[in-house]
Amino acid sequence: MEKSEIKSSEMIYNKITLSFPEQIEKLFRTKYYIDSIAQVRIALLLVMFLYGMFGILDSMIFPQYAHYFFAIRFFVVIPLSIVVILLSYTKVFQKVWQFLLLVCFIVGGSGIIAMTMFEPENYAYYAGMMLVIFSGYLFLKIRFFVAAIGGWSMILIFNLIALFYVKASSIVIISNNFFFVSANLVGMFAAYFMELKIRQNFFLNQKLDEEKVTVEELNVDLEKKIEKRTKELIESKNIAEEVSANIAAIIEGTFESIWAFDTGFRILYINQTFQREFFESFGVRLEPGVNLIESLPEPLQAIWKSRYDRVLENEQFTVEDAVQTEGGIVYIQVGFNPIIRQGKVVGGSCFGRDITFKKLAELEIIEAKEKAEESDRLKSAFLANMSHEIRTPMNGILGFSELLKEPSLSGEEQRQYIEIIEKSGNRMLGIINDIVDISKIEAGLMEINIEKVDIKHLIDYVFSFFKLEAESKGLKLSAVEPELKQPLIIKTDREKLYAVLINLVKNAIKYTDDGSIEFGYEYDRLKLKFFVKDTGIGIADNRQKAIFERFIQADLINKMPHQGAGLGLSISKAFIEMLDGDIWVESAEDEGSTFFFLLPFKV
Ligand code: ADP
Repeated sequence: MEKSEIKSSEMIYNKITLSFPEQIEKLFRTKYYIDSIAQVRIALLLVMFLYGMFGILDSMIFPQYAHYFFAIRFFVVIPLSIVVILLSYTKVFQKVWQFLLLVCFIVGGSGIIAMTMFEPENYAYYAGMMLVIFSGYLFLKIRFFVAAIGGWSMILIFNLIALFYVKASSIVIISNNFFFVSANLVGMFAAYFMELKIRQNFFLNQKLDEEKVTVEELNVDLEKKIEKRTKELIESKNIAEEVSANIAAIIEGTFESIWAFDTGFRILYINQTFQREFFESFGVRLEPGVNLIESLPEPLQAIWKSRYDRVLENEQFTVEDAVQTEGGIVYIQVGFNPIIRQGKVVGGSCFGRDITFKKLAELEIIEAKEKAEESDRLKSAFLANMSHEIRTPMNGILGFSELLKEPSLSGEEQRQYIEIIEKSGNRMLGIINDIVDISKIEAGLMEINIEKVDIKHLIDYVFSFFKLEAESKGLKLSAVEPELKQPLIIKTDREKLYAVLINLVKNAIKYTDDGSIEFGYEYDRLKLKFFVKDTGIGIADNRQKAIFERFIQADLINKMPHQGAGLGLSISKAFIEMLDGDIWVESAEDEGSTFFFLLPFKV
């Protein structure tokens, strides 16, 4: 179909011939032909039948001319009609049908005109002309313009014959023209408007068809679009489902607590972890829709409400809580995030996790760092102390050696100086021994050497070793031993046991200005519990553990009046532990201290 031709919504046609522009005209004619062909055949048959039937009138009105009239009827007009009817079944008919019908019209009309000319005054046959004119214009489906040619041609033929051939009277010619012209005019107008209507209908139908096609095209388009959109929707739905399944798996599979709430603090979402933990902590089962704040125990409500309020004011933050549980302190960290939809905060989401492990690790690191710093500080203090400890006796030795060179010294003076040099040397030897011991212990090179030790022997030795020193300081030294039927001889590391006991008694004397010192042991089946008790300066509670650590003195600031490198107790502790024993102190400041150590043994 040539759409372009019918685009205009206004019907364009020739006002006289009624023709459309070329392309639509072609379409119209085809349609007109198809719609008309049946009527054309019926009309031709009927006209032919009537044309024959009027032959009866011929023999009644003009028997003398009947054979002429019969000839016109049965040898011209009716055969012509038959031929046209037969042609209407061929293909060419569509091309020539209007022309053939025009011929039939003119020939049929001319036949009647011819008949009227035999007796012009007789009006009977002029009525036949009317029938022919009406058939031509209104029945045979000849197009208006073609029919008009036929109509006016017949009037022309009539006048030519009437005027020049039969010379009819002017009254006959005039009166007949009145009827013929009127009939022609009526037929023309009727045919004109009928055809115009038909054409308008055709035009409208074409437009409708065209619209229909457009609508159908639109429909197809729309359907395609819908199909595409549906496909897209299904795809995004699948993606959304997959994403939400993944998220659900993550959220539900995690050990972290996750929940979300709306502006009325009602739960929008809660994962199983949080549900379970909340239930375990507070005995309340949280569900979507439940009010978060009301579910909390009274004392916690205010603090959590203020947190949720902050989120609803579009703040993003984290808090840390330490919660006391049956299993100890649990540290939790909760992240708060506002949920924003179309620029407005519509709720909040929370993400809580147990950070106890991390927190403890952090605390441990801090502790370790402090320890490292402390030990660093102690080592520096130790070095300073050590250089002091070494320099003091060294100065003694060098100083008094110098004095000895003086020739005028008395024997007594010489003896005193040599004694000082000897003491200083011993003190230095002690320090060097301590340093060697502690280095060996630190390097793991200290060995255990098990031999038989007679405990009574040990006690007697230590007692006599310190007796004079204690007395010279005005202290009463006593050794306490259980009564035994036979000497107690055990297997242990003799050197270490001696060293520990000597160290403890030496310290007791060193840190006691007046009073007494008592030492000894108690005997249990497989353990010996030694003690060294003094009435000295005592040790503050918070230092009682530290003094056993390497390089530590009970009071770093006040240690100056007393000599010592702070190694003795740590060496003692290391020795006792090597022998599977334990060492500790009980002490009160300004009252005195008692050092104990347990020694497992084999008899
Ligand atoms: P030092 O060489 O300084 O004596 P120790 O390791 O033997 O080193 O002792 C460590 C610290 O313990 C001493 O500096 C002292 O402050 C404290 N101390 C040890 N024994 C006693 C005691 N009997 N009475 C009070 N304080 C003591």
